[in-house]
Amino acid sequence: MGFPDGRELHEECGVVGFYGVGHASSHAFMALQALQHRGQQGCGIASVDDGNFFLHKGEGPVRDVLGEQQIATLPGNSCIGHVRYPTTEVGGQENLQPFLFSRKDSRFALAHNGNIVNAASVKQYLERHGHIFHSTSDSELFAYLVGSGLRGEDWDANIRAAAHLLDGAFSTVILTRNTLYACRDKYGFRPLSLGSLGKGYVVASETCALDTVGAKFIRDIEPGELIAIGPDGIRSSFHSHSGSRCMCSMEYIYFARPDSVIEGCSVHGFRKLSGRLLQEEHPADADLVTCIPESSMSAAIGFAESGGLPLEMGLIKNMYVARTFIQPSQSLRDIGVRMKLSPVRSIVKGKRVAVIDDSIVRGTTSRQIVQMLRDAGATAVHMRIASPPYAWPCYYGIDTGTKEQLLAYGRSVEDIRRYIGADTLEYLSVEGLYKASGRTQLCTACFNGAYPTDLYQNNAE
Ligand code: SF4
Repeated sequence: MGFPDGRELHEECGVVGFYGVGHASSHAFMALQALQHRGQQGCGIASVDDGNFFLHKGEGPVRDVLGEQQIATLPGNSCIGHVRYPTTEVGGQENLQPFLFSRKDSRFALAHNGNIVNAASVKQYLERHGHIFHSTSDSELFAYLVGSGLRGEDWDANIRAAAHLLDGAFSTVILTRNTLYACRDKYGFRPLSLGSLGKGYVVASETCALDTVGAKFIRDIEPGELIAIGPDGIRSSFHSHSGSRCMCSMEYIYFARPDSVIEGCSVHGFRKLSGRLLQEEHPADADLVTCIPESSMSAAIGFAESGGLPLEMGLIKNMYVARTFIQPSQSLRDIGVRMKLSPVRSIVKGKRVAVIDDSIVRGTTSRQIVQMLRDAGATAVHMRIASPPYAWPCYYGIDTGTKEQLLAYGRSVEDIRRYIGADTLEYLSVEGLYKASGRTQLCTACFNGAYPTDLYQNNAE
């Protein structure tokens, strides 16, 4: 399913934070570009210099919003940044991050990645008590709770108290006049890593952003942990303890960049092993293996190696296709997919092709890919999916749509095979998923409906 704007799943956001780093906003610009796959709808940077805050944000990818001129308006050695894809919230300027807030006579900036599942009930309570929210973003709620000073003047205690009240997924960065805070929810749904750069520090949603700016990885921020980076170094404390480590398995399967390492597990390594395990579970009677460029490349390598089959470039991606717009008819939508992805006729003609994809969400793209390969002369198309059937909506910051929009919801693998038109279709098992990660705990709710949190009113139908 994975190609720009044809993506059937969207990550909500990515965050970065810099403390004590010269030209912090220039570094944030580079780090945000490394996280661009986590959201292209908008981005922004907030910096602090000598107690004064500066902010620039806008709609569009990093290279369009944050040019040299804008970076020049963001002075200081500390900043936070954000890339955004909207999920439960509507798009629009008012929801772009970071946000700047005032708290008594001081200011702070905040940005977050994830989705707070009890946001609606906490907001309703606060609105009944007279507070007016200016955006639909969970960040404003988080900031309101921090700014309301539940624990007096102690910033660390106020952030812990706010985080403790909120349930769901959040990896959050907060910048005050002299401190950078980084905080993860108690389940640890979204990644957040800490690194050092010269005498300063960097936090980022993925380690690929640390690598891009030349930072040295120190460690992951723990589920439920708040770290504060200030003039006296790093302080660590915990706002909550759940005892669980529910990293989103889709981070490993699809969202994160293959060169990132999440909680000690290489994303490329995970994907390659998942491809090997998929081949062991469901070999394909094929002449060659191909991937959907480029998101399923790692899994296809593993599948091909394990099955002793050649890995071929059966499909190519056009990287220069302009943004997708809503096509008025099915035939134009089909052309939209063909503009982005084409079969290589000389490779697939007369061949039995095993196509490895990372997941099937709504299935329309998979169906078109199968047809494209057949039209190009493939004699058989065997779909192999390097994750279990995606049958349950995500409430933790991934835009999946409703249950009814998910092809696997209430359907058998055979129903799905018929819909996409493949000769055979098989998925990796949940056990295979755990084995590939080398972990005993993951969030797998979209595969088995076992949500790690209460869902509050989020699953109201
Ligand atoms: S439900 Fe799925 S996509 Fe959402 S956090 Fe869990 S594993 Fe990730």
